Amino acid sequence: MSKGVVIVGGGIVGLSCAYELLRRGQSVTLLEKGKPNHDSCSLGNAGMIVPSHFVPLAAPGMVAMGLKWMFNPESPFWIRPRLDAALWSWGWKFWQAAQAKHVAACTPVLRDLNLRSREIFLRHQRELPGGFDLSTVGLLALCRTAQALEHEAAFAAKANAVGVPTEVLSAAEVRRRDPGVDYAIEGAILFTKDAHLDPRKLVALLTAEVTRLGGRILYDAEVKHWRQNGGAIAAAVTTQGEVEGDQFVLAAGAWSPEVVSELGLRIPMQAGKGYSQRLTQPRQLPKFCSLLMEARVAVTPMGSSLTVGGTMEITGNDLRVNPARVRGIQKAFVQYYPAFKTTDFTEVPVWSGLRPCPPDGMPYLGRTRAQRNLWLATGHSMMGLSLGPVTGEIVAQMICGEATSVELRGVDPDRHA
Ligand SMILES: Cc1cc2nc3c(=O)[nH]c(=O)nc-3n(C[C@H](O)[C@H](O)[C@H](O)COP(=O)(O)OP(=O)(O)OC[C@H]3O[C@@H](n4cnc5c(N)ncnc54)[C@H](O)[C@@H]3O)c2cc1C
Repeated sequence: MSKGVVIVGGGIVGLSCAYELLRRGQSVTLLEKGKPNHDSCSLGNAGMIVPSHFVPLAAPGMVAMGLKWMFNPESPFWIRPRLDAALWSWGWKFWQAAQAKHVAACTPVLRDLNLRSREIFLRHQRELPGGFDLSTVGLLALCRTAQALEHEAAFAAKANAVGVPTEVLSAAEVRRRDPGVDYAIEGAILFTKDAHLDPRKLVALLTAEVTRLGGRILYDAEVKHWRQNGGAIAAAVTTQGEVEGDQFVLAAGAWSPEVVSELGLRIPMQAGKGYSQRLTQPRQLPKFCSLLMEARVAVTPMGSSLTVGGTMEITGNDLRVNPARVRGIQKAFVQYYPAFKTTDFTEVPVWSGLRPCPPDGMPYLGRTRAQRNLWLATGHSMMGLSLGPVTGEIVAQMICGEATSVELRGVDPDRHA
């Protein structure tokens, strides 16, 4: 008798896998260590759908920029120096990957994954009841200095050349297109295929839909061990007991490496911590989501609220909040949006989340050679929300023996083995 597919992790990736498998008539059990109202990186993120992000994190210039930021306590990037072999090995692999030829190889894959995901988001909007505040007006890359605008305009030309359309806008043109908002900028790039949404609403909708389609979600079910049988997994051993399956999908975000370490599987990954705050009564409500390019801060309207977030701290699986970096985000935000004050954030709770970051900036997607029936769907770094739907589709296609909707390269889960 078929025991179905067991998915570990109830973030956007695990839920998207469950949804697509159920659509194909598979039976699904999803294991989540948290309670029904649990937090995850998929909830408090900036909600951006990003075909503009066709360059992986490991790119030329990133190491030098990271080193420069290391010495500023309010900067958007920090690595906590520690004697940890996994961290040093990750850093070495990052440095090796940060080459132009790696970027060239990854560009078409990331572009196609993001564009296919965008199509699925549009289908979700048509098919899932209730909506999730999806807006397809595009993303603004805001520049405060002429130097940054020149740099971004050169990037925009590259984007156009690879099929990601952009427009270079003067400050006056940005104000004309979004008249209710003050912008203190030199200009912006508009990525017309980017979009934004409210991730909390999306996750709630997908959770309801998985249940409606007959999926079983077990909460408080942390996978602690595995029962193996001749090169395959027979059951996940959880805090709720054993759960047997025919196929297993690992979608446990930043916790993925530790969940499978007992199986002898090594997936290089570091958690990249970020923060966000949600203003429920913002002084102004921009129409566009935006990236503040010099500061690396993300700003997203979600319904009538405004979410402001950023930073990448490599400090282990540690969700503690560093107030200096949160201050850095707030200070940068009011420079670009001068109608706001840093005191607007005083009583607003700070959310923190852990991005699952492989060293080469590419997700782990597919079946591992280490176990016949284990599929990896993790490591989406800064674009897990954007890539969640296409990841679900691809995992379901692979498990069901269908051709994948996107040609895959550079995502082999065993590439660092
Ligand atoms: C500040 C910030 C802004 C961001 N903005 C964007 C954005 O605009 N666009 C974008 O695309 N991405 C964005 N991201 C990245 C995105 O949020 C992540 O890539 C994405 O949420 C990862 O999803 P996931 O499902 O892989 O992991 P998670 O959401 O972390 O889910 C993993 C789940 O697995 C569960 N789990 C872990 N271990 C176990 C276990 N042993 N047993 C059972 N369950 C387990 C966890 O409890 C968790 O619920 C942002 C991230 C941050 C921090």
